[in-house]
Amino acid sequence: MPKGPRNRVDMEEGVIKFRLQFTEIAPVEMEALAELNRWRNILWQHALIGNDPARYDGYDFGNVSQRSSDFDAPPGQRPFIISGTQTGHLAVLDSRHYARVISYDVVRNTVVAAGPVKPSSESLTHGMLYDLDDGIRVVLHVHSPDIWQSAGRPGIPATAREAAYGTPQMAAEVRRLYSETDMRERKLFTMGGHEDGVVSFGNTAEEAGDTLLRALDARRKQ
Ligand SMILES: [Zn+2]
Repeated sequence: MPKGPRNRVDMEEGVIKFRLQFTEIAPVEMEALAELNRWRNILWQHALIGNDPARYDGYDFGNVSQRSSDFDAPPGQRPFIISGTQTGHLAVLDSRHYARVISYDVVRNTVVAAGPVKPSSESLTHGMLYDLDDGIRVVLHVHSPDIWQSAGRPGIPATAREAAYGTPQMAAEVRRLYSETDMRERKLFTMGGHEDGVVSFGNTAEEAGDTLLRALDARRKQ
């Protein structure tokens, strides 16, 4: 576990668990993020991103990201734009609420980022997905009791309970699911050690967003 004043607090949500090297810079251009941001709004409207004082010690939940450039870059150096830490309660995000992750190391637990806001505490989870496959261009992390509680039944792959979010153990678990289950085709998994945590991914925001809404729909019909 990395040292640092905030890292000592063992909360489920909202606390940055990696070593962050952060530089404050001007906001990113929203133009390239329009589709991601549109989907982020849809997820917020479904309460898959948000804030609930009764859950997760009142921390905001849910975050979205998109590869920014440098496709074909080696793992750990696939820059992406991600929603800022503790922005889940905001109905609409603008350029001030997104950070640029420049590089990351899922084994050494480090993130280098810049922006008007610090990156989501779950940035490493996003980075490990981008490391898996150069075709993954969007990652969505939401909280859904409906989808999460269905894990274990045939269907959605789940990471082991022992693997906490944003840790090298989680990275290893995600790699395992990717090679041993149909997670690659489903583009969806739940996080066994992170209450209500669900991740979807895809080549576009629409692909990843659709996957979540369909999973939600399927669970509610059961
Ligand atoms: Zn979460």
